[in-house]
Amino acid sequence: MAEVKRTYCRICEPKCGLLATVEGPDMVMVRPDPEHPMSQGFACQNGLAIQRIVDDPDRVLRPPRRKAGIPAGPARRQDFEEVSWNDVVREIGGRLREVIDRHGGGAVGGVMGQARCALLRPVRRRRGSLSWSSCSRRSSAPDAGRRRQRAPS
Ligand code: SF4
Repeated sequence: MAEVKRTYCRICEPKCGLLATVEGPDMVMVRPDPEHPMSQGFACQNGLAIQRIVDDPDRVLRPPRRKAGIPAGPARRQDFEEVSWNDVVREIGGRLREVIDRHGGGAVGGVMGQARCALLRPVRRRRGSLSWSSCSRRSSAPDAGRRRQRAPS
């Protein structure tokens, strides 16, 4: 029996609200959520095609880690091995801790959102704390344009 689940798009930063119709384990339809407080019934063509991402046989479901001895740079699929989320979080956390211990919190930053936002807004450095850069939904021109062209809900 079909059931509508309230969810959101994970493709880019606005996280537009979506209503997903599911039948058992399968998503059968996606449409914009008119009651989402931020996207208010908008979803772009990428979000509405999210089912194709979910069903993609090449979808990455577990973190790939470059195998030991494989040099940095372009790599082939066989150059990676799957690791558990716990292992990858522990390993990345350990490496970040080393950098922070050696150079201070200002040596580490993060970028959230789309690449174009990351390019437009360099990571700000704050002494002693982690710095983050992200594109704000309210200040992103592409989002403002898209909001004016709402997809029918
Ligand atoms: S703008 Fe499009 S891709 Fe980005 S979160 Fe919204 S629906 Fe998803």
